[in-house]
Formats: sequence, structure tokens, C-alpha cells
Amino acid sequence: MLIAFQDRLRLPWRGGAKRISPAAVAPAFIIPLMLGLATLNSKTAIVLMLTMVGFSIWGLQLAKKTATRTNFFLSWTVFSVFYMIVIFECQVPLLELVPEENYFLMFFTCAGIYCLYRTHRLAPLNLVSAQYGTTPKDELPGIAEASSGEEQAEAQTTLQMESVLDLNDADVVDIDTAERAGLMHGQPNICESCRKVTPRRAYHCQVCGTCVKRRSHHSYWLNCCIGERNHSWYISGLFTSLVALILGANLTLTSICHPFLVLRPFGYAVLLPDDCSEVFESFELGISFVVACYSLLIANYITFLLARQAFLWWNDTTLHEYKRAANAAAANRSRIWSNWRAILK
Ligand SMILES: [Zn+2]
Ligand SMILES: [Zn+2]
Repeated sequence: MLIAFQDRLRLPWRGGAKRISPAAVAPAFIIPLMLGLATLNSKTAIVLMLTMVGFSIWGLQLAKKTATRTNFFLSWTVFSVFYMIVIFECQVPLLELVPEENYFLMFFTCAGIYCLYRTHRLAPLNLVSAQYGTTPKDELPGIAEASSGEEQAEAQTTLQMESVLDLNDADVVDIDTAERAGLMHGQPNICESCRKVTPRRAYHCQVCGTCVKRRSHHSYWLNCCIGERNHSWYISGLFTSLVALILGANLTLTSICHPFLVLRPFGYAVLLPDDCSEVFESFELGISFVVACYSLLIANYITFLLARQAFLWWNDTTLHEYKRAANAAAANRSRIWSNWRAILK
């Protein structure tokens, strides 16, 4: 029955109707239902917000454990952004916002959406597509499954590198280029999972089912891998979204709660909310308050992600490499410990 329902759930699209999975449409209903119910009173709001956090952590852990490729989290991101814009733009300016404040908010919102959209769009360029050992062109590793123009060019470079190394004329080869092409010491790096020739610092993603160049991690919220080509877009997207979320939440809360003046740099008043006890008296104020709290919740999560990225950048590593090193260290520790136990027995 579920398959029949899934098959009927189609969206008219140019070039034929597109099938939509129930996981991709579920957030469109869950988010407004949760946010709407949270406007009832403060206790319901706290319980529902905590439920949302718990549900997200549980869902992410489950998806990671089973390496499931799902549109659910990407859809959650898209609909969260959509509902937040609707509330911030249609509800809050009706209160008491200065136009410039709204222009700032619009600018950072658009910048955040654009950067995260680019992160998602550029993700396929991170994928390593040359297969090794499964085609008649065994002796031509990089060329086998090169699809795009760029991959073709890179495969060609791999090929050239190999012929040059065969001639033992390593002096003319730039070592770094050889390393990047996965041909250090004349041996290509081949992924054990997908049998692809991989450049240095490319790692396998269980969710994408392929190797990813300079892989950081798989972002479930964007449903793509963060790697060489989209890492800077990802960081920019996180940063601009964080500014937009904090700005949106602060403008909303200072409009609907009693604000107080913190400081006045260059004649511009910086306000913070003080007393929010009356927000649950009407639905309009309640929904603005709940959405502002929801954006602060997301802002906290993004701050954690940015701090983690800053730490990794400082140590000149990626999340994948950091976790791999930590796992190797843990395995080493337990090996040493079991050796000691064997000696002491
Ligand atoms: Zn692989
Ligand atoms: Zn991935």
C-alpha cells in the first residue's frame, strides 16, 4: 500500500512527472504542526522544542548507523527556511521594524540560501568517478568512467603521469601533482569499497556509495558530501545563515517582547528582549516567538558546526581524517591495553 501511495505521489515537472517520497514531504506538515502547537503555552513550547531536538539527534544517528540516503533532512532544512521566511517577513514587519533592519535580514537570508544551494549543487564535482579493474580498459585507470569534461581532463593527467612514471623519468614530474593523481611511488591508490583510483585525501562515503575528493563529512541536512569543491561554500553558507538566524530572532524578540537598550554604537540602538511573558496571549505573537526560539535553536547547532570547522581548519585536517586518526588511536590504545593484560595474566 505504501509503495502504491509512493507511486501515485507525483509532482508535474517538465520532461515528465517526478515521483516524491513521503520522507521528502513529511517535514512540510510536521514543522508547521509542531510550531503551531507550541504557540499554546510556554510548557508545550518547551516540550515540543525538546522533542524536535531529540527527534533530530535520534534520526541523524539512525541514518548514520544505517548509511541511509534520504531526502528527509534536506526537506526539513528547506521547509524550516521557508516557514521562517514566511513568519519573519509576513508577520514580524507588521510590528515595529525599521526598513534597514529588514534589508539586512533579507541580505543574509538570501546569501545563506545561495551558499547552501551552491554547496549542494557543487557536491557531484567532489565525486571520484574513475573505476579501476572492472572495464576492458584496465590498463587505463583514470579514463574508464570519466564522465564530465573535468573528469576526462583529470583522467588524462593520470594517464600521462603513469606513462611518465613508467619511463622512470620521475624528475620531470611534480611530486605534488603525482600525489594528487594518486600515483605516489608509481602505485595508484585504489579504494577497497568501490575499486576506484583515488587522489590523495579522497575517502569513501558509505551514503554516496563512492569516493569523495578531500572528504570532510556527509551532510544529511544538505543530503550531499562536503569535500574539495564545496567546502568553502559550506562554511560561507553556515556563517551567513547563522547571522540571518540570530538577526531574525533578535528583531522578532525585541519587537514582541519588552526590549532594553544594550549599547548604541554609531547612534544605532542594539536591543535585547527583556520581558516575554505576554507572547502566548495571541496566536500572532505566539507564532513569532516560537519561530524566533526555533531559529535560535538552529543558530546554536550552526555555532557548534562552525566551531568544529574552525578547530579542524586550525589543525589542517578534515572531519573524516580527524575521526579516522581518533579511531586509530583508540584501537591502538585498546591493543596496548590487551597486550598488557596478556602479559600480567
Ligand atoms: Zn570508494
Ligand atoms: Zn556522502
